[in-house]
Amino acid sequence: MGQKITAIKGTHDLFETELRNWRWIESEFCKLCLARGYSEIRTPYIEPTELFVRSLGESATVVGKEMYTFQDKKGLSISLRPEGTAPVVRAYIEAGLPQQTAFARFFYLGPMFRYEQPQKGRQRQFHQMGVEVFGLSTPAADCDVIALADALWRTLGMLDTTVLLLNSVGCDLCRPHYLQILVTHLQKYRSILCKECNERITTNPLRVFDCKTSQCRAQFPDFPKIIDHACADCSTHFSQLCHGLDSLHIAYELDPLLVRGLDYYKRSAFEWRAKGLGSQDALAGGGRYDKLVSELGGPEVPGIGFALGCERLLIAMEAAGLKAPVQTRLIDFLPLDSESQWLALRLQNELLRMTAHIITVNLSGASLKTQLKNASKSGVRYALIIGQAERDAGEVICKDMSTGEQKKIPFTDIAHYIQNVCHE
Ligand code: AMP
Repeated sequence: MGQKITAIKGTHDLFETELRNWRWIESEFCKLCLARGYSEIRTPYIEPTELFVRSLGESATVVGKEMYTFQDKKGLSISLRPEGTAPVVRAYIEAGLPQQTAFARFFYLGPMFRYEQPQKGRQRQFHQMGVEVFGLSTPAADCDVIALADALWRTLGMLDTTVLLLNSVGCDLCRPHYLQILVTHLQKYRSILCKECNERITTNPLRVFDCKTSQCRAQFPDFPKIIDHACADCSTHFSQLCHGLDSLHIAYELDPLLVRGLDYYKRSAFEWRAKGLGSQDALAGGGRYDKLVSELGGPEVPGIGFALGCERLLIAMEAAGLKAPVQTRLIDFLPLDSESQWLALRLQNELLRMTAHIITVNLSGASLKTQLKNASKSGVRYALIIGQAERDAGEVICKDMSTGEQKKIPFTDIAHYIQNVCHE
């Protein structure tokens, strides 16, 4: 026997019991997006490395430390996508959409790749569902995007266990001035701050607020906050967004320390956390990126979006005891000989053309007793037994697995019978 091959660290196989909740969140997300006029977009898993270097910024941890980057056979530097926004922006520009439509709304779902230290809720291949909206710069557009996520929490029963944090990270007008103030302030804390934060003072001072070490975090209350240095336009945008959320009855908390890890965010930045989930409690995050389209070679088109981590959402749902509604198997045909197996397959296919219920055939060739035991174990509602006697009579024995009651039903009446019992 050859040596077993195991999955790569930080990646996971998913089986049916887990996938039920996956399908649920994915289908609810798709339904909500389609109902709000978003259209789906699927971009490649591989992109030119430059796309992420330019959009996320060279100093971003994702770019500097976490990307899966390799050279292809022609020497082109390629990266597995670590996030979804930059690829969607690239595709939007490449398709010439900014010139064709005043605004566009996209949603996507799929795997992302980051070389992180795996732990619960943090993987090297993880999955995101996200939206990107182009061409709208008003706070109402921010509100609309946030309302979509809110609708998802509501649909999944997560509204009470999710907290929305909100901040403004300023714009090109006010941020440089604020950064000067912040750097001057941070210089005084050099001896207290960790090594990485000391580096951030020169590479990307705003990221100091992303630091997880308690010693650095303890100093945060003393640091100047970006929201206190926002220009008039950013302040107005932010207060209108808050007003919009209030009028939609969407609860939020102001978090002046929320800066998000990526370079491209401007003005609104937001994050949803799951209550009581420990260190990996960030469910979703997003914000406005009004310069990203032009930075990636397109015209000046504003953008806004968010991405949520499917694995984190599923962990949060499990912690809250939320489960996808399970569809039980309605019928299991139990054929008692090979001739009956053919007949059962024919009847199964005929029935499946008429109903969306789960209908299976047991092709094991096992004894009736074993087949019945199996049907009962898997929660089947009706076992339809066919042997030679039933074939000769042109009928099946229908056994109600919950009451044990048995009835003979002619082949031609099965569909009708099933429809009736399902409407009872
Ligand atoms: P980000 O693109 O970093 O803003 O992340 C958006 C969301 O993706 C986060 O809130 C997490 O839910 C999820 N996420 C990010 N990185 C990982 C990871 N390595 N493993 C699992 N989920 C992740």
